[in-house]
Amino acid sequence: NQAEAAPQHAFDPLNDAEVARLRADFPILDQEVNGHPLVYLDSGATSQKPECVWEAEQHFYETANAAVHRGAHTLAVEATDRFEDARSAVARFVGAGEREIVWTSNATEALNLIAYSFSNATGGAGGPEAERFRLGPGDEIVATGMEHHANLIPWQELAARTGATFRWIPLTAAATLDMDAARQIVTERTRIVAFTHVSNVLGVVNDVAALVALGRSVGAYTVLDACQSAPHLPLNLRALGVDFAAFSGHKMLGPTGIGALYGRAELLDAMPPFLFGGSMITTVTMEKAEYLPAPQRFEAGTQRIAQAVGFGAAVGYLEEVGMERVADWEHRLGAAMVQGLDSLPGVRLLGPAADSGVERTGTVPFAVEGVHPHDVGQFLDSRGVAVRVGHHCAEPLHRFLGVSASTRASAYLYNTAADVDALLNAVSDVRGFFG
Ligand code: PLP
Repeated sequence: NQAEAAPQHAFDPLNDAEVARLRADFPILDQEVNGHPLVYLDSGATSQKPECVWEAEQHFYETANAAVHRGAHTLAVEATDRFEDARSAVARFVGAGEREIVWTSNATEALNLIAYSFSNATGGAGGPEAERFRLGPGDEIVATGMEHHANLIPWQELAARTGATFRWIPLTAAATLDMDAARQIVTERTRIVAFTHVSNVLGVVNDVAALVALGRSVGAYTVLDACQSAPHLPLNLRALGVDFAAFSGHKMLGPTGIGALYGRAELLDAMPPFLFGGSMITTVTMEKAEYLPAPQRFEAGTQRIAQAVGFGAAVGYLEEVGMERVADWEHRLGAAMVQGLDSLPGVRLLGPAADSGVERTGTVPFAVEGVHPHDVGQFLDSRGVAVRVGHHCAEPLHRFLGVSASTRASAYLYNTAADVDALLNAVSDVRGFFG
């Protein structure tokens, strides 16, 4: 009995009736797919968006559209206010200062921005301050074996550009990070430790505090991939103590085309810009340019203004629901999926075992014996159930799991116990269909 097992909360947990009301804000969910009610369990790839998000964008275009940070006219001032209000909202949501949030197009761009700001170059952008961001032979960059390619390839490439060495923290047999190995791998030579908060494949929540402490103990910068935590867990980046973090608006009820880089203000002000052009300078002569402090020094060119406004509305919506309640609801859905899938004959959970006690979110990968994940995905779609199949941009992790691809169900605040039942019913019919 879930109700009896539930821990005592300092908040009112979400319940079926409330989630039913929330679902009304997501009209896309109210449709049939292949003759069945849509069951959307692919929020790990991208979330659905509540009406208030595109209404905020539309309202911006209808009433305040203008280029920001330029022009003295009224619309330009209004547009700038709304753009900066959105930044404040997102900053507050993740426990950051306003100057510590840089807009990017997504998390991938944010992670590349950090990686490009480190280099082996002398002189150029950033001046003497940029020395802190120089890498070369003998330096080491550490990631983990469970990264999304977006938090893996930029570091491989940075190592290749600078002559630094790329290393990674392996996984234990239980598919969690091997912290004993981490303590051997992170050394005085380590300059960057980059890791995901929550695995986009396994849903496993990593011990950020332990990894930050390890990075700090050797003076390395820590980079958190918060793509799968910012949407699903209460997050306070300052309290976690990471130096940098990245997340995407579209995975947390916001529009596509907008994401954010978090960096401690002091670091962002010292870090060399990555893109050069308009809106990021103080003075320019024919010989050289001086750059604005963060965040503007990283926001060259005309920005994604309406998308930022939509992102602000999205985090406002999440705040109103309450992130502790979101996390708790998804945890319950995730546990129901884990238990249900684990009890189906011919279905194998990937990653931590059902009874492992490993902390995880509502993201669950699995394999159906003898059936390729693409066929599983197509069969589930024929029942109206949308899940992800493939390697989910985490090929090395799949190699570790001993499979080339997997099927992943990922829940969000708008999913229900009925969605989990629909998933389990459909999965239980897969082998019969292909058998
Ligand atoms: N990191 C993780 C853990 C992710 O799940 C994703 C998206 O799937 C990314 C990075 C990249 O996000 P985006 O494609 O929005 O840049």
